[in-house]
Amino acid sequence: MRWALIGASTIAAQYMIRALRAEGGEIVRVVSASAERGAAFAATHAIPLSGASVEEAVADPDVDAVYISTTNEKHLPQALAAIAAGKYVLCEKPLAMSIADAGSMVRAAEKRGVVFATNHHLRCSGSHRAVQSLIRDGRIGRVLSLRLHHAVHLPENLQGWRINSPAAGGGVIPDITVHDADVVRFLTGEDPKTVVARMAASGLGQGVEDSVMSAWTMPSGAMVMSHESFTHPFAGTGLEVHGTEGSIFARGVMTQNPVGEIELVTAAGREPVAYDPHDLYGEAVRRFHAAVAGHGGPAATGWDGVKSLAVALAVREAALTGAAVDVDYGG
Ligand code: NDP
Repeated sequence: MRWALIGASTIAAQYMIRALRAEGGEIVRVVSASAERGAAFAATHAIPLSGASVEEAVADPDVDAVYISTTNEKHLPQALAAIAAGKYVLCEKPLAMSIADAGSMVRAAEKRGVVFATNHHLRCSGSHRAVQSLIRDGRIGRVLSLRLHHAVHLPENLQGWRINSPAAGGGVIPDITVHDADVVRFLTGEDPKTVVARMAASGLGQGVEDSVMSAWTMPSGAMVMSHESFTHPFAGTGLEVHGTEGSIFARGVMTQNPVGEIELVTAAGREPVAYDPHDLYGEAVRRFHAAVAGHGGPAATGWDGVKSLAVALAVREAALTGAAVDVDYGG
């Protein structure tokens, strides 16, 4: 698969270039709004071509697929341009700034017949898959509740648009709550129904929230408690799933790397749970390549990206209004 990177981004530099190449992908060009930054990025990462034009990149017959990792407000026009040119699309979360826009991207890809995936890496993690298997195998009985702890410290090099630009899609809700929404959907197989929330700017956010706590109701009646933040250096991350017959404690697993421990607690006692420590992003790329080859779907589809965004936007609306908000998945 020959890839164009749309976005000379940190996530591409830190994780995705390696993941694409490890899975047999060839990166043929990078697009940056700044020709100079693009050229420097291309030189650093041994990418043959760079340029400032998305149109030129997607018109390149040597490009099969694009990976979009620009700031959030740019995903929509860039994805639509790639889809119109018949390219496969792996798009970063949040897919767009609104459900209508995200849905239009996914529908455009369906109409054009190109694979479109959302880069939700957590569902690609061996740890999250092990938790999903425990639930599916009935090891904790009926799921009563989930608690997600995803309050971290935003690294200094990322303290730009995420903390000060509503126009670029900043804020912890579009950044991290979308991931947690996808995790909950992946683990339970259910779409959150109603949310209540509180948000705050607790030291980093300028015009956007940097912390949020929310409670969600699932169609089964299960409850979800979710906490995301950019300002918590020592909180650690985790995921708990509590059922009628047991509880799962997964500590340190809300992360980009295959780390953390899982423990299952039942009437029989406590037992550690092993999991496959494969690279999360590599797995997303492997599934994407397979989907293009006609073998199954991507790890997270476009509709998964629409739904995670719908939950995140409901959380923000609930925090803004103080009201309980039914998640609008856009019909
Ligand atoms: P960055 O801030 O690193 O990059 C975003 C854009 O900012 C780039 O496309 C680039 O524009 C511009 N940019 C980068 N460096 C500079 C600079 N030094 N000066 C000026 N502009 C610069 O963002 P991230 O990589 O953190 O995030 C990009 C996207 O990926 C977002 O949508 C985010 O939500 C998502 N993401 C997803 C993750 C996941 O695990 N799935 C993890 C992290 C991010 P240009 O391309 O025009 O050069």
